[in-house]
Amino acid sequence: MWHVQDSDFFEKEKESILTMYPKLEYIIEDGLVNLSGELDFNASFENQEVFDTYLILIVFPKDYPDTVPESFEIGNKIPDNYHKNKDKSLCIAPPVDLSMKFSSNPCILNYINNLLIPYLYRYSFLQKYGKAPFEEYSHGALGLIEYYFEFLRVDSIPSLGKMLLIVLENKYRGHLPCPCGSNKKLRHCHGSKLKILSGLQGQQLQFDFINISRYLEENIKKDKGVNDESKRIIYNKG
Ligand SMILES: [Zn+2]
Ligand SMILES: [Zn+2]
Repeated sequence: MWHVQDSDFFEKEKESILTMYPKLEYIIEDGLVNLSGELDFNASFENQEVFDTYLILIVFPKDYPDTVPESFEIGNKIPDNYHKNKDKSLCIAPPVDLSMKFSSNPCILNYINNLLIPYLYRYSFLQKYGKAPFEEYSHGALGLIEYYFEFLRVDSIPSLGKMLLIVLENKYRGHLPCPCGSNKKLRHCHGSKLKILSGLQGQQLQFDFINISRYLEENIKKDKGVNDESKRIIYNKG
């Protein structure tokens, strides 16, 4: 259990929560660590300030801080059709985006301040002003495609599919041509981005690939103009 194995780290986390969010309380049950209570925040984006409070339950994974905590809004303020996952946990960002942002500084304050609060801020802002303060990714598989397009700076499904397959099948070779169509070798083109994706923990990339494939499959069925090339790439796997 992470909180026992690294008790110094846990003590430090507890202290930082006590200082910044004294209404949140750690609960340890059956060796699992949760943090719950009122989360008050005062956040602003481009000088548009929002003060709000939510009842929050943060669930720490067993291998925290190697993987990201999950959060639930337990005060019934946020409806289920607003960016929530199937298990009702908050859909804060596409999973790969979330783990990259969290692992850059894996601690509870980074999680709350830079990931959870912007999610809550956006929802509060929507309620207050009737419009969103900033753009965000679509919910679900389409959001994954948007995220990978942006991260990899590509804009075609076949390029994305080929790149994800290179990582998933461990086929990165620097001298191979880059699938983006630039006519450059991988190492001089998208290689560094693919290496970042290769370094990610767990099976997230695989799940994303499967989700994207399913989404495209459904849209191919509906004949929404996904071309044969995409079909071929995406059906290759998943
Ligand atoms: Zn979402
Ligand atoms: Zn490229």
